[in-house]
Amino acid sequence: MKTIDGIDFKGKRAIMRVDFNVPLNREFQITDDSRMRAAIPSIKKILEDGGAVIVMSHLGRPKEGPEDKYSLRHLRDHLSKLLGIDVRFADDCIGDLTHQKALNLKPGEVLLLENLRFYREETKGDEAFAQKLAQLADVYVNDAFGTAHRAHASTTIIAKFFPRNKAFGYLMANELSSIDKVIRDVKRPYTAIIGGAKVSTKIQILENLLDKVDDLIIGGGMMFTFIKARGGSIGGSLVEDDFLEKAGEIIEKAKAKGVKLHIPTDAIIADTFANDVNTREVKADAIPEGWLGLDIGPGSREAFSKVIEQSKTVLWNGPMGVFEMENFAKGTKVVAEALVKATKNGAFTLIGGGDSVAAINQLGLAEQVSYVSTGGGALLEYMEGKVLPGVQAINE
Ligand code: AMP
Repeated sequence: MKTIDGIDFKGKRAIMRVDFNVPLNREFQITDDSRMRAAIPSIKKILEDGGAVIVMSHLGRPKEGPEDKYSLRHLRDHLSKLLGIDVRFADDCIGDLTHQKALNLKPGEVLLLENLRFYREETKGDEAFAQKLAQLADVYVNDAFGTAHRAHASTTIIAKFFPRNKAFGYLMANELSSIDKVIRDVKRPYTAIIGGAKVSTKIQILENLLDKVDDLIIGGGMMFTFIKARGGSIGGSLVEDDFLEKAGEIIEKAKAKGVKLHIPTDAIIADTFANDVNTREVKADAIPEGWLGLDIGPGSREAFSKVIEQSKTVLWNGPMGVFEMENFAKGTKVVAEALVKATKNGAFTLIGGGDSVAAINQLGLAEQVSYVSTGGGALLEYMEGKVLPGVQAINE
């Protein structure tokens, strides 16, 4: 893998794509800086080599040009603090003034550029825009795994202007090698746990996983499409009727391939979609009309834990229930705890995708699993076997 370790940055200017898409409150204070902290080791390596770094990112989803609430200016002081130096700022990510600021950088200095998405050319992957960014530096570094599945100007197109001077940052390299472990050197049994709201968004990954895993656990809202496909009664639970056939096919394919498919046998149901309401524990395929399944039940929790704890490789994406509400968080919590146990038993455990990452952080267990990926969409696309444009751009 072409990482920044293979480059001596002495006297060079590196332009680095990072993912500083951090949450800000109304006072523009950063409420979770983990994405910023994650990029610090790569920036420091370049500075310590005697190079200068131009940092570029997007923040939020600005619609038409610059908007103060999405300005990266709000991140400048915090980045200075994290690096222990006075970070410079450019009001625009391209243009003469920015170019001048970049040329004036001395070794050991950092220039933070304004939000890339103030230009529509960024998400369009515009080549002329990418070239203007490229003109700011001698080396291109990509350390933004979360956007690697997008062929944007700063994540992919820019790389062609650095045919020999481009590399992955440490965060990106670490993401790729951790995920490669699950894809390539799989220790068995290999279990995947897929939950979350919808089957439709996860069909591709489910089909792909059937060729790889020994056990496939299904939870979350999507379980009801599977249960209905098997003829069960699901009351008013979340269901995607357009995907009943697809779910049936997955059940059949799992059988044909010898994959053990674990669909919850019981569920916690509620009479309204809210936390403090009447709840009951019932068989997952016998949910009365007027009730909704919002979490997996105790029997499923126990069965799933057993499978997970006996696995040697575990991939988890998507919560088991509506974990944002305390009364329906137990399934997700028990699965998280089973991953921790599996890790202690020597398994490689990987968590990815926004909601399961939020869940493991909320439970304070993120340090006790093997790897928590920063990528949601990027992780799933990579697991599906797709070549990520941002990765290919560095490799080719
Ligand atoms: P996803 O983005 O597809 O991973 O879905 C995550 C969301 O699925 C979370 O916000 C959960 O609250 C939701 N979810 C999980 N289980 C259920 C369920 N049984 N019914 C409705 N929503 C659910």
